[in-house]
Amino acid sequence: MRAKLISGTELSKIIRNSVTQRVKVLSSKGVIPGLSVVLVGENPASQVYVRNKVKACEEVGFFSTLDTYPSDISEAELLKHIHSLNANPKIHGILVQLPLPKHIDSTRVIEAIDPSKDVDGFHISSAGALVKGLPGFWPCTPFGCMKMLESINYDLKGKHAVVIGRSHIVGKPMALMLLDKNATVTICHSATVNLKEITLQADVIVAAVGRVNLLTSDMVKPGAVVIDVGMNRDDHGKLCGDVDFEAVSAVASYITPVPGGVGPMTITMLLQNTLDAAQKTLIP
Ligand code: NAD
Repeated sequence: MRAKLISGTELSKIIRNSVTQRVKVLSSKGVIPGLSVVLVGENPASQVYVRNKVKACEEVGFFSTLDTYPSDISEAELLKHIHSLNANPKIHGILVQLPLPKHIDSTRVIEAIDPSKDVDGFHISSAGALVKGLPGFWPCTPFGCMKMLESINYDLKGKHAVVIGRSHIVGKPMALMLLDKNATVTICHSATVNLKEITLQADVIVAAVGRVNLLTSDMVKPGAVVIDVGMNRDDHGKLCGDVDFEAVSAVASYITPVPGGVGPMTITMLLQNTLDAAQKTLIP
């Protein structure tokens, strides 16, 4: 039987509708959620990403700003801007689009963000909260993957989840979130020698590498759930993930497409985190 599709586009519509409703309630109490997106330089991919984020904010009724700076801005100037956003009561979430130019220490910039406005979930406080299982902002991409699993009522308890990739923004936090839901988690990475042997044992596979056709059908146990985080271009320049989608669809029970899968969910969870940040300002 062919795998069922988990559509990030459809799930995003549902979550964004609920965000829009909650924005109306918050606005009636005098709080309009505000997100500030900071972009340094002219990286074309980053420009597209930030435009999409700002557009999504406008669609759900947020206040948003896009602050662009030339690539030769000094680290001190950028930090000054972050501090002014920290102090701005209209801004509940701050997102610094990565990567930053080489002369700027991106860790220092991210750590300068007030943790209560860290809606990307990259601050050390957010990462620490995730490790300890405490409330905090979860990084948007793995958070979106968890929502996709939730949308099919998938009970992770006791399941074997295999995460391929160990980056700070996707792989590692993904593994911690799966662990939080009582899965048995294996993290695979570039130095893993027996990838296929491990993925064949998985009930859930999250592929977050950035390599076309990294996960082929012979690596997937029949009935497994496959989440494809990868964003790549194939030989024809077409957007695709890390998973051999057609072949794996014949083996898996559920699969996420690219495009229309994890991508839209990432922005949706950014909206959700920003809304939550704004909501918290109402609680004394
Ligand atoms: P990264 O380059 O930081 O990390 C890639 C990881 O893959 C590393 O941990 C590395 O150890 C591992 N890896 C490399 N080769 C491997 C191999 N042969 N076998 C097993 N593991 C291997 O990348 P990232 O930022 O985590 O992003 C991963 C992918 O997800 C990229 O395609 C990126 O574009 C995409 N992405 C998508 C979204 C989204 O919203 N859809 C968001 C973030 C990242």
